[in-house]
Amino acid sequence: MGSGVSHQAPRRIFYYYRKNGRKCKNNIDFASKINILKDMEKKICTEDHNRIIRDICAWYRENKRDLPWRQSRDPYRVWVSEIMLQQTRVEAVIPYYRRFLEALPEVKALAECPEEKLLKLWEGLGYYSRVRNMQKAAREVMENHGGRIPLEREALLMLSGIGSYTAGAIASIAGGEAVPAVDGNVLRVYSRLFADERDVRKEKTKKAVTEELTLAMKAFFSGTDDLPGEFNQGLMDLGAGVCLPNGQPLCEACPCRLYCRAHEDGCETSLPVRAPQKARRIEDRTVLLITDTDKVAIRKRPATGLLAGLYEFPNYPGNLTDEESLAIVEARGLVPLHIQRIENAKHIFSHIEWHMQAYEVRIASFDREGREKPEAEDWILAGRQEIQARYAIPSAFGVYAEHVRLMRGPFGDSAGQTDGEAVVSTGNKALTGVSDE
Ligand code: SF4
Repeated sequence: MGSGVSHQAPRRIFYYYRKNGRKCKNNIDFASKINILKDMEKKICTEDHNRIIRDICAWYRENKRDLPWRQSRDPYRVWVSEIMLQQTRVEAVIPYYRRFLEALPEVKALAECPEEKLLKLWEGLGYYSRVRNMQKAAREVMENHGGRIPLEREALLMLSGIGSYTAGAIASIAGGEAVPAVDGNVLRVYSRLFADERDVRKEKTKKAVTEELTLAMKAFFSGTDDLPGEFNQGLMDLGAGVCLPNGQPLCEACPCRLYCRAHEDGCETSLPVRAPQKARRIEDRTVLLITDTDKVAIRKRPATGLLAGLYEFPNYPGNLTDEESLAIVEARGLVPLHIQRIENAKHIFSHIEWHMQAYEVRIASFDREGREKPEAEDWILAGRQEIQARYAIPSAFGVYAEHVRLMRGPFGDSAGQTDGEAVVSTGNKALTGVSDE
């Protein structure tokens, strides 16, 4: 090295440059040294990247998981699987993926699918806006691309709901384009490979890593038979099964262990760097499962906002007492026979946490003669089986949907015979059901 700096010059030079390079504009001597170091770091990084890409491609070919969407390079299948995989684990995705592909085997079917059916197919996966955007993009594909999903990253980015990660995954796996697909898993592996201390929660870090990997991939794949899709899927598999997010990564099984900088420094578990997140807002809610002998009251959520257009059990802000809950039911002209506290549940959204308490309220009948019909309001009276089959209930209410599924006939005789004041019982169980949507 002509610079007189050892080839072992630590990566800290690079980080030092990043932090201080711009401050040294007026100090030509120092700035030129920094430029030499920058060029050298680039060279080292390129060599490192080449080695990483080559080893991960080889490792992927040996170790790739046999997954249903990997049986072809069909862009529709890649697209559906990647959107689903952004939401949950591979094992959980497989049955959803199969069901979805069976019902909507091609982009045309997705474009034409009625919304209710689409949401029902997505039920349990959460993030319903993603499947709505998929349908919007499918319609754009039908209208603007003659029903053929584009294979180039730039064209994919023009479709609704397709961001950098999904475009990179489809373009590289189905189209063979040398572009990365950078998500949280890839950022974790990358930050460990280079002992990179940039905050992975920052959008600018993701953008910079995407640029760095794009340059490295374009250079590497221009002169090799390896496939860009193999590298991206290898990185995904490495992040999912070896370079694990919590606890100790399985470095002994990693194809990059001999030169991974975090492994060398013993700092695997302190990377990636993540700035603390803002605390979520806590919302207390009271859910009412209002039922007669065979129907349960549900309602449709507004067309915009959180869980838009999905179905829910009537629920209200705050921790209502049983008297307050009964008053809501009575205000609709219904006669409550029995009220019982059931499970509490918690649901975590990205910015809000719902802490839910719930009552099962047994009423005499939804359609007692002379009573105001609850359908006149915003409630829908659905049979218990019908809820399972027809209405998309988001996982925020999963504990209560399951409670409804397991409900039996009327309460004991005394409740069944009461036609005046409701019997109150407080069978309050422990908190159940924590999920993320
Ligand atoms: S050696 Fe360990 S820390 Fe480094 S990339 Fe592999 S699994 Fe992750």
